[in-house]
Amino acid sequence: GQCIAVCPTGALSEVNNIPKVWDSIYEKGKTCIVQIAPAVRVALGEEFDFPPGTITTGKIASALRLLGFKYIFDTNYTADLTIIEEASEFINRLKEEKNLPILTSCCPAWINYLEHHYPDLLHLPSTCKSPQEMFGSVAKNYFAPSIGLTPNDITVVSIMPCVAKKYECSREQLGQGETLDVDIVITTREFAKMIKEAGIDFSTLPEESFDNPLGQSTGAADIFGATGGVLEAALRTAYEWITEDDLKDINFIDVRGFEGIKEASLDINGLVINICAASNLGNAKKLMDDVRNGKSKYHIIEIMACPSGCVAGGGQPYHGGDYDKIKARACALYKIDENKPLRKSHGNPSIIKIYDDFFGEPSSICAHKYLHTTYSDKSNSFANK
Ligand code: SF4
Repeated sequence: GQCIAVCPTGALSEVNNIPKVWDSIYEKGKTCIVQIAPAVRVALGEEFDFPPGTITTGKIASALRLLGFKYIFDTNYTADLTIIEEASEFINRLKEEKNLPILTSCCPAWINYLEHHYPDLLHLPSTCKSPQEMFGSVAKNYFAPSIGLTPNDITVVSIMPCVAKKYECSREQLGQGETLDVDIVITTREFAKMIKEAGIDFSTLPEESFDNPLGQSTGAADIFGATGGVLEAALRTAYEWITEDDLKDINFIDVRGFEGIKEASLDINGLVINICAASNLGNAKKLMDDVRNGKSKYHIIEIMACPSGCVAGGGQPYHGGDYDKIKARACALYKIDENKPLRKSHGNPSIIKIYDDFFGEPSSICAHKYLHTTYSDKSNSFANK
């Protein structure tokens, strides 16, 4: 309900979805597909006594296979897809000089807050669904037919660092007709419990890979899990699309780190773009009051509800406010990014293929049907009273 949606810290008790996931894995006539968010792979290890910041992506893929999921995919794939759609939307708004600043839309606790408190600004968030929701849509409407199934033959399970994602997947705007994009969300902590329930010795698991085509991703996708990451990933693509030139230094250091509000300016073909990344809703309020009063200088603003972003999300192993732990998780994401051969979302071959096969162009009618969403004024709902 509303309480979970507005509580990014997970302090309120969460719905236990583990039994539902076990049922879905074994449900006859259904194919159970799993996706896992970027921030989970750098925090799950803590539940099995690995030091904070240990990268366990390969062991996670092994564990998911042992648990019985039919296809092991990655939310990172649709994080890359989000960047393609969002960069395209940003460039269109810049050209038309309207609906700026564009606000990022991948954090459901932030979007819920905006719908409750700034109903006059609902033309500003990107209309892109979050990566978890884009994944569900692509799994059901693109992948399912490719293996001879219908969207209703598929159950999509998400493993998220986040409690608000449980609420997000039930939003009626996030599906086609009666079929929601994502069926069940579990947190990183619940995932750890499932591994323990199954008697799997996580520490000795071999390193395996995700399945394809929804398993391939670039480094730009990994950094979604840290505050500033979505902004950095979007700029890597937007810059190259606008200038038609190689971006030499792809590390936007100014928007990294743990300050509540970070800002920078970037010259793109003579146009100065002012960017801002903020985490926690108190900082969001400051920025949105300025936007409402016409005092904001920014062209693009990223907001994450959890201080430091999803690495410190309410569904992650408890960090007890230990910033060294959170920092270790974020540094691990930047390390994954640095070590990937591809670091710009528009270079992902599986993304290029999905546009060739299915969506056509970024921002096409088909892309809008499956990858974009709408927002609604919630200022009269009980949570505001
Ligand atoms: Fe969830 Fe990330 Fe938003 Fe926190 S910052 S509420 S973990 S999406």
